[in-house]
Amino acid sequence: MSRWESLLTVQEHDTRADQLAHRAVTLPGRAELAAVTEQMGALDHNLATVESRRGELSRSQQRLEDEIASLTERANQAEKQLYSGAVTAPRELQALQDDVASIRRRIGQIEDDELEIMELTEPVEAQRAELTTERERLDGEAARITAALAEAEAEIEAELAAVQAQRTEAAAGVPDELWPEYDRLRSQLGGVAIARLAGSTCQGCHLALSAVEIDRIRKLGADDTVHCEECGRLLVRD
Ligand SMILES: [Zn+2]
Repeated sequence: MSRWESLLTVQEHDTRADQLAHRAVTLPGRAELAAVTEQMGALDHNLATVESRRGELSRSQQRLEDEIASLTERANQAEKQLYSGAVTAPRELQALQDDVASIRRRIGQIEDDELEIMELTEPVEAQRAELTTERERLDGEAARITAALAEAEAEIEAELAAVQAQRTEAAAGVPDELWPEYDRLRSQLGGVAIARLAGSTCQGCHLALSAVEIDRIRKLGADDTVHCEECGRLLVRD
């Protein structure tokens, strides 16, 4: 195999490796995962708003319950005093009775307020449950995509390792002095440094070389360096 054929084989493996690397970064799962992550972000924002509303309502309810407990305690104390026999003056007894009745009325009002809060809490709880379920669904979706991505990446990595091994083997047949130009042309010309000359057409740029140039090339030795006059790539002649 000529040095140029060896270098072309290296090129084919490098091109394949470039394609695999490109496939790895553009796996559709990446865009899917980004979309799901974005949905999660929006959902978490909504969930935080709902949680905050739920917390407010819960605190309000607790405040009312504390107030009911403290008023019930006061009413019980007053009733205890009322029936203890310690208070005998009718005016005082009447005042105590009025006090108890007033506290009980107040408790009734607060219980109504609490019912209102419980009614407000219901839809908030329902919304929270709905958002939580959706969050779990998205978690599952993200896990599924992540696993599929990892599997696809592993496949690409295995293929890449095989390509690299073949490349190393092919590279052994390439003389050291060819590498600097190969590397330079690869970085300048979209990864393709060397191409076959098929008839008078460069397979790198798919343009035909002039008859004069073809004539000149024909007279060169097998190891002589030939560049495409159109794109500048190294050419492999049959
Ligand atoms: Zn060319």
